[in-house]
Amino acid sequence: MPPSSPLVFILRLMRLALIAMAINASFAVIEPAVERSTYLSRLVMSDPVRHLRMPVDRVAQRQLRDTWHAARSHGRKHEGIDIFATRGTPVRSTTEGIISRIGTNKLGGNVVWVLGPGGHRHYYAHLDQVANIRTGERIGAGALLGFVGNTGNAKLTPPHLHYGIYTGKGAINPFPLLSGKVAVPPSHPAS
Ligand SMILES: [Zn+2]
Repeated sequence: MPPSSPLVFILRLMRLALIAMAINASFAVIEPAVERSTYLSRLVMSDPVRHLRMPVDRVAQRQLRDTWHAARSHGRKHEGIDIFATRGTPVRSTTEGIISRIGTNKLGGNVVWVLGPGGHRHYYAHLDQVANIRTGERIGAGALLGFVGNTGNAKLTPPHLHYGIYTGKGAINPFPLLSGKVAVPPSHPAS
């Protein structure tokens, strides 16, 4: 059979189609991974958000109390803000980002960590339940993370969200970022 016969031509064409399909399939795997790492670097390099959306549904800015660095058991200082709400109230991400950890710990109970703009790590604790989310998932501001509860060391206190923000230099006060108000310096009892 001469090489230019229609059969050879069709076979070559089929082989090319198979190669094209294989390349396409590998791109389907590679592309999302590239997209993820591009997003991750853009997220970490971007400026941290200055005005955060409220993480608990139906809570107004004026209801917030600044409890930053209030005394806690074992000489600890409060590294965040407590936002009280009825058990089961939706808890939402204050920023866009990536779900970096979903877990349980003694103090926080059911917790979710979100890596947000500027590489800030946002901590949501005492959740009654975690929403249907996965570690590594990319989320937008307002994404449902879980529901208000009192798991962990909050089991004797009314349900609330403990919300913390950690930067490369340690925890920062979420109150001014959530309320739009200037933080009240922690009061030192006269002694
Ligand atoms: Zn707290």
